[in-house]
Amino acid sequence: MIKENPVSSKGRKPLITMKFGGTSVGSAERMKSVAEIVGDHAQRAEVVVVVSAMGGVTDMLIRAANEASQGDRENWKNVRRELAHRHREAADQLLKAAEQATVLPRLADAVADFENLCSGFSLVREVTPRAMDTLSSLGEVMSANLVAAILRSCGTPAEAIDATELIVTDEHFGNASPIFDETNAKTRQRLAGLRRQGVIPVITGFRGATRSGACTTLGRGGSDYSATIVGAAMDSDEVWIWTDVDGVMTTDPRLVPEARILPEISYREAIELSFFGAKVLHPKTIQPVMKKKIPVWIKNSFNPSCPGTCIVPSAANSHKGVKAITSVSKADLITISGKESLTFPQLAARAFESLSLEEVSTLIVTQSSADNVLCFAIHDADLRRVKARLEKTFELEMLHNDRVSIEIMPHIAIVVAISEDMKGTPGISGRAFGALGRRGINIIAIAQGSSELSISFAVKATDVKEAVKAIHEEFRLKESGAKSQEAIEGKR
Ligand code: ADP
Ligand code: ASP
Ligand code: MG
Repeated sequence: MIKENPVSSKGRKPLITMKFGGTSVGSAERMKSVAEIVGDHAQRAEVVVVVSAMGGVTDMLIRAANEASQGDRENWKNVRRELAHRHREAADQLLKAAEQATVLPRLADAVADFENLCSGFSLVREVTPRAMDTLSSLGEVMSANLVAAILRSCGTPAEAIDATELIVTDEHFGNASPIFDETNAKTRQRLAGLRRQGVIPVITGFRGATRSGACTTLGRGGSDYSATIVGAAMDSDEVWIWTDVDGVMTTDPRLVPEARILPEISYREAIELSFFGAKVLHPKTIQPVMKKKIPVWIKNSFNPSCPGTCIVPSAANSHKGVKAITSVSKADLITISGKESLTFPQLAARAFESLSLEEVSTLIVTQSSADNVLCFAIHDADLRRVKARLEKTFELEMLHNDRVSIEIMPHIAIVVAISEDMKGTPGISGRAFGALGRRGINIIAIAQGSSELSISFAVKATDVKEAVKAIHEEFRLKESGAKSQEAIEGKR
């Protein structure tokens, strides 16, 4: 946390990169709070801001593009009206006349881009991933311009910056990865002048650009990733991710209202949690800050006085056992059985090669080499592609007397219990098993991460809420979350 008149270990004012998510910039009122938070911290620290689109806008844009590409010529016109209205309303309520004159034409340009793109999609009946990226990240262009103008209206010098000028990515449209060396150099160079003048950059989250300048996006929820990419490039002392909950919690509070804040978790725990579906963080968020060991705070913009969760390189062992539980509620289990001449290594090699070609990660993997059976779970969104690829890979064997069979169990969920403290603590899976058994929840498959950081259970999708609750209760996370909160507050 930043103290009065602080000096960072780097001999200058601390530099904080702050990201505000969709709900934090979801309305005029929320944007006003953002301006207050930024204005307040800007007195004691140098602040770089990254913003998401207003809540719901990205979904709306993507839906409109898909509808337009199916030939719909009307629905996206309603979306255009709503897009213009929501941003215009915030501008009307919060901006001085001079700022309105600057920002309204920029908002209108983004709306015109939306219109032109959708009109093109409906004409050619197609939306390419490349065009989708330009369109789906227009919400960030609009919110960055608005937030920068609101800051200026409140007397805080700020300028909207399009991340296509900072973040250089590969050409993987829809889920691009940054090219770090080039990104770091470009970001530092582009922001240097603003830093010298004391102007706060307000950067569009979610988007970047290829070397040739085509707009890309970093995957859904990618503004968290944008924040750490920029934070690391700028050598920030800390990255703060402002969202709508008090921090990383023992589980998703929407599933279990008794969930408690975790005051501190390690990088590895955060990576595991986000990989297995904890929406509070984009799965790649921690990657850019690992080398520089930059702490990442998760904070609540609706409750700024709450300290939040600090994600640190390695967290103190507070309690033995499970620290947090997460779940992926829409998954499928694929079982591939081989017979006769196909050995298990051959079967597994070809199955994983297929997954690799589709760029799909597994959620859990189990095997029985003796029976030549490989079993793995994937996100439901990947099922269609993976199934088609596997059927192609094993086409011949499936034709010849069923030498390979592929079975799919749909509608399953993966429940994952996570903690670095698990290592060397016996009996964790036994207790979790017991808790699920007592509630009559059938475990379809189980896997323990090789790093001993997590244990995953596949259960029926309809059992997911009950399963998370059962493990949460078994490991008394309601109490341990509260206790570790007290311990940390005691230390402060
Ligand atoms: P933002 O728009 O700020 O990026 P998100 O909706 O992407 O916010 O992420 C915040 C949400 O993540 C919370 O509202 C909460 O419902 C959900 N969530 C899931 N798992 C957790 C968890 N373990 N701790 C905190 N929030 C979680
Ligand atoms: N607006 C983008 C999304 O909804 C990115 C983000 O909010 O992080 O996916
Ligand atoms: Mg998010």
